[in-house]
This record gives sequence, structure tokens and C-alpha cells, in this order.
Amino acid sequence: MAQNQARILIIGGGFGGLFTALDLAGAGEVTLISPEDHFLFTPMLYEYLSGEVEAWHIAPQYKELIDERVRMIRGEVTDIDLDAREATLKGRERTLAYDVLVLALGGITNYWNIEGAEEFALPFRKIAHADALRARMIEALDHVPPDAAPQDARRALTFAIVGAGASGVELSTKMADLLHDAFNRRALKGEPRVMVVEMSSTVVPGMGEDIRTLVEDALKHSRVEVHTETRVLRVTKDGFTIEHGGEETQVEAAGVVWTAGVRVNPLIEKLEVEKDRRGLIIVEPTLQVRGHKNVFALGDIAFYKDATPTLAGTAQLANQQATLLASNIKALLDGRRLHARHFEELGEAISLGTENAAVLAGGKAFGGPLARQARFALYTARLPTWHHRLKVGASWFFEGTTARPLQPLGFRR
Ligand SMILES: Cc1cc2nc3c(=O)[nH]c(=O)nc-3n(C[C@H](O)[C@H](O)[C@H](O)COP(=O)(O)OP(=O)(O)OC[C@H]3O[C@@H](n4cnc5c(N)ncnc54)[C@H](O)[C@@H]3O)c2cc1C
Repeated sequence: MAQNQARILIIGGGFGGLFTALDLAGAGEVTLISPEDHFLFTPMLYEYLSGEVEAWHIAPQYKELIDERVRMIRGEVTDIDLDAREATLKGRERTLAYDVLVLALGGITNYWNIEGAEEFALPFRKIAHADALRARMIEALDHVPPDAAPQDARRALTFAIVGAGASGVELSTKMADLLHDAFNRRALKGEPRVMVVEMSSTVVPGMGEDIRTLVEDALKHSRVEVHTETRVLRVTKDGFTIEHGGEETQVEAAGVVWTAGVRVNPLIEKLEVEKDRRGLIIVEPTLQVRGHKNVFALGDIAFYKDATPTLAGTAQLANQQATLLASNIKALLDGRRLHARHFEELGEAISLGTENAAVLAGGKAFGGPLARQARFALYTARLPTWHHRLKVGASWFFEGTTARPLQPLGFRR
């Protein structure tokens, strides 16, 4: 297959798909398919919620990142035929033929079939989800009269985050800081209630002791109520029910946000290739799908053996894999040998409230405002394309990154 004529189809424009497309630009007829018109740098979705960053910083339009060497199609793939080597797009009759396929579809929220969760809990994976959550917080605040008794204000401003992994911790501390700030600005009596509910016995399970201590301090500082060894039994329009030590408690809440799990994309669920028990595609050390030399998979949908276990399901891994994958596709097209790589943890950075963060780098954890600055610097370097990095870096440096208060939408009784 001549390299410049090969049709390379990349499904999914997230960390795996976009970075692969950027590396492959010009190496064939490269097509990138995504349902959205923008990439999303998910690690900073919390800062977008709080207004510390703007949408254009972390969710740049694809057309600003890729040039004419990559064809962008906005759409959703509904079917993949590995034998016929073609993909079907929703609402289009003509299929897309490929010579090389890259599966980079990522995951979706896993509600674990918990009653009412999918219907009533808010997901937190996209810009639209952050907008909806911010609007929900403002709406709840707007319904509290200025002279409300502290217990009434607290009940009306109760929010719960399900799952105390990195996501739940980042989200709960951000939400708590924003709501406390809004209480002060509006001179409300009492305080909001932000709860984080976790099934296991600790917050950030799987992370090291050093970083956990910083996280626990931050949760205390932001006055987040932590409920470990607690299960959510059901979610309703007005709240949720939890169980701890055999005892059930019903809690009224203005919003329940679900960060307690990811499952593979439904399109991958129906694809007949070799998978592990979690439904992840088992890929060879070259990132090729077993039994299909012209099909590659990476990121959240792929099980890659030679990676530090804590990297599973992270942007870091998808990002690193994209480099290997692109170079292996070039090798495949040139008839050269494909390579394998071991993937290492590059460090962790967790945002903790609107003025704090924790960073783990070179085996050492540190926290506070300096860690927050370090996180911004680190993430500037990980944004896609030099041009975008420079624009965003300049904006953060000169215009600042202060949180935007939850302004009233208009007072309603
Ligand atoms: C809020 C949040 C915060 C996170 N924070 C961190 C962090 O701090 N550090 C870290 O390392 N990781 C973090 N992650 C995890 C990280 O985002 C994922 O591991 C990473 O995005 C995986 O990359 P991916 O390419 O596999 O999937 P994704 O980046 O999810 O990309 C999948 C793409 O496929 C597209 N797609 C889906 N279905 C279809 C279809 N049918 N047809 C066409 N396209 C489709 C999607 O729209 C999306 O563009 C976070 C995730 C979330 C949700």
C-alpha cells in the first residue's frame, strides 16, 4: 500500500484520536471523525466549571488545530464492518471505506444500573455537562431568599458528588469553594452542603499516601462532607438515598453529580474482537487489535499490558499511545517493523478547590497555590499544538486564572 494513498480512518477526536491525527497529518488520506466540533482537555473541565479557564482554552475547535492534510467529519459512527473495511455514519447512507482504522472512541459514564442514576444524576464529561452543572448551582442559589434560615439555605444548597476518585475530589472541592463564595457574596446565613460519597474506605483509592493526605486536607479546608464506605442506592429528582453500615438515609439535594465510573463506548461493546473481562479491546504491544493488522486501538477502550497500572483510563496514557500508534501506522505503510513501548506514569496533578492543587512529580507530592501554578504550567505544555499552547499560555499569564463567581440569574422566590 503506497503511504500517500492509504485511507486512514480515525474514529474519535479525544486524546487518542486527535493526537494520532496530528502526528499522521500528511501520511496518507487521514480522516478524523468526531460527534463534536471541538477537542476537550478533560483534566481542566473543573477549572472551566469554576470559570478559572474559558471554553476556547480547553475546548478548541478542531478546525483551529488541524490543517487541510486531515479531513474532519463531524458525525457519529454507528457501525464498523471489519471484514468489508468500512464504517457507517449516523444519518448517512454512504459508508466510509478505510485501509487502516484507528479506534479511539473513549468511554461513557457508567451508572452501574443504579435506580434513577442515569435519569436524574448529572454526568460530568463534556463542556455541556459543566455548563448544566453551573446553571444548576446558580439556579439553586437564586431560589434561596436573602433572609432564609441557615438550615433552609443548607437544605436548598445541598449537592452530592458520587465517587471520590480524582474526579469526585476535584469536582467537590471546586463546587464547595464556589458555593461558599456565593454564600458570602449574597450574605446568606449558614453554609452550603457539599457531600462526596464513596463506596471504598478512602478517598482517591489507588493513589499514594502523600497525595491522599493533601487531598484529605483540602476536602476539610473546602468543608466537603466525606462519606466513605457508603453506597448510593437510588437517585430521584429531588435527592438520593445512601446506605452506610446497613442503615439507609434519604437526602434532599439540588443536584447529584455522577463521577463513579466509566464503561467502554457502546460501539466497542458490539464490535467482535478479542476483549478482556471489562470489555476493553486487547491490543498487541504495537497497539494493533488482535487478529487485525490494519486496525489499531488506544486510550480508554484498549487494554495495553505494558503500562504502569495507575495509567489505565487516563489522558496521559492515550496521549503517549498516540505517538507510538502514529509511528507504527507509518511503519506499516512503509513495510517497516512496528515497535512496542513501555508507558510510565508522568506524574499527577489534582486541582483542589479554586486556589489550591496537589502535584506529584518525581515521586514527591506538594500542595498549595504553588502546586496550582505548576498544574497550569504543566497542562499548558500538554495542550494540543504549539500554536494553541502559546495562545493559551499567554492568556493565562497576562489575563490571570481567577474563578468566576456564581452570579445570580435573577432572583426568584
Ligand atoms: C472530567 C474528566 C477529567 C479527567 N481528568 C483527567 C486527568 O486529570 N488526567 C488524566 O490523565 N485523565 C483524565 N481524565 C481521563 C481522560 O479524559 C481519558 O482517559 C482520555 O480522554 C481517554 O482518551 P480517549 O482518546 O480514549 O477517549 P476520549 O478522550 O474520551 O475521546 C473519545 C472521542 O470519541 C468520540 N466518540 C465517541 N463515540 C463516537 C462515535 N460513535 N463516533 C465517532 N466518535 C465518537 C468522543 O466524542 C470523543 O471525542 C478525565 C476524564 C474526565 C471525564
